[in-house]
Amino acid sequence: MQIGSPSYRKCLHCGEKSEYYSGPFFVHYYGLTEWSDGEIFQELPSLKETELQKCHFCSNFTWLRQKFDGMTFKDYCDALIFFENLYSKKTIISHVFHKRNKKRLLYIRLNILRKYNDRIRIHPLSNGEKKSKSIDENDKIIFINNANKLIELLKILEPDNHFIIAELYRNIGLFEDSKAEADKIYDENKKRLLLREIENENRDVIIIKQPLTARVSLRAQHEQ
Ligand SMILES: [Zn+2]
Repeated sequence: MQIGSPSYRKCLHCGEKSEYYSGPFFVHYYGLTEWSDGEIFQELPSLKETELQKCHFCSNFTWLRQKFDGMTFKDYCDALIFFENLYSKKTIISHVFHKRNKKRLLYIRLNILRKYNDRIRIHPLSNGEKKSKSIDENDKIIFINNANKLIELLKILEPDNHFIIAELYRNIGLFEDSKAEADKIYDENKKRLLLREIENENRDVIIIKQPLTARVSLRAQHEQ
């Protein structure tokens, strides 16, 4: 496995140079594990394209697509407060970029959802090792509020994304609403999986796709 050498980019706010990886990535590909919140794990889950960066020196945020993921649950929560405040100002700029800004808030909120879920899910390469950390009560409240706001945003921006809307209703325990959305999912396999979890009143994120060969190919690698 090789991840190449880091590149550097100057922060637009403070001018300090931050490291990021532009590749090349020589990674043995074994497939993807896909979760019900849209998170997808590859062999290098920490090195993927992300649209929002936080400067390690001045803690300011920059919208920049790079292959680096250093943003935590708290970073996204901080970014949300910062950008919601910025975008709510009644300026010509915020009027012109109204739609783009809504999409950016959607992006941040989806990442709050996924970073929270990272504490629940077991990484496909962890060999079943459970996370020991319990989740802070305050974070649970943030998670529920975020799910409610995400449903509102998705109904404006992506009303046909029934899967993720159903998933969010399930996360907050509104199983009837979740079922109504899940019934509209086009993909029969995803629909069946989600309806089963709704039936069981499970609110946690689930795996919806997993490569069958994952364990086998890993073992083969070790034996080489
Ligand atoms: Zn900076």
